[in-house]
Amino acid sequence: MVILLFIVVISNSCSTSKYAASNKAYKKQTKAFAKELRKQPGAVDSAMNAGEWVGTTNFGMRKPNFVIIHHTAQNACDSTLRTFTLTRTQVSAHYVICKDGTIHHMLNDYLRAWHAGNSKWGNLTDVNSSSIGIELDNNGFESFTEPQINSLLVLLKKLKRDNNIPTANFIGHSDIAPKRKVDPNKYFPWQLLAQNGFGNWYDTTNVKVPDNFNAMQSLRIIGYDTKDSAAAIKAFKLHFVQQDSIPRISEGDKKIIYDLSKKY
Ligand SMILES: [Zn+2]
Repeated sequence: MVILLFIVVISNSCSTSKYAASNKAYKKQTKAFAKELRKQPGAVDSAMNAGEWVGTTNFGMRKPNFVIIHHTAQNACDSTLRTFTLTRTQVSAHYVICKDGTIHHMLNDYLRAWHAGNSKWGNLTDVNSSSIGIELDNNGFESFTEPQINSLLVLLKKLKRDNNIPTANFIGHSDIAPKRKVDPNKYFPWQLLAQNGFGNWYDTTNVKVPDNFNAMQSLRIIGYDTKDSAAAIKAFKLHFVQQDSIPRISEGDKKIIYDLSKKY
């Protein structure tokens, strides 16, 4: 009888959610972090002797200052949810947006997801610590769906407002990892996002580029890691000149870079 009851309980908990085990792991992990936050900081003098602890009354939670957008490079939303709930993959994002517009909020915005990997934007190297990662269900070679982009815009509006994220700080994975990533793909509507206040855009009407203009230096001002110049140009084009993937800067590109660089 006891065994039977046990089996019933087990099977019930399984049917509640196929992610019951990872949800449990999530709760355990956040509990450990909460314990860490409650720890009283110590006081030490210059000789490293303990002194009296004085707690300040004035503090808040650290907030994300960037949003990094990705495509999942997988064939279905369920595959991505599965990938992000398996310990061995060591990857995650705060949000996954499916093709039908469903938003899965997988991690509290205050916590650090593992989505950026080895990356750089300006002098920022620990992008995971200061950003929200958003993954869009997309195999990497197709357009993004309208419900998906609509959900993304709603989410970005909330994130921007809640965290006071600067307009310039809505960028893509390839922007911060030009040598490693082509993500999100060339169909991603960056111009539409910029029109809604998420990321910068350019207007080359009447733009006159100065004779001494240094385009690579300006790409660096925008934020690109220009150590590999061809990779940096390709990443820039994937975001701002999507119809062209040639790693060379034309006169037209110079106008775009010049106009953009004044906004950073
Ligand atoms: Zn990515």
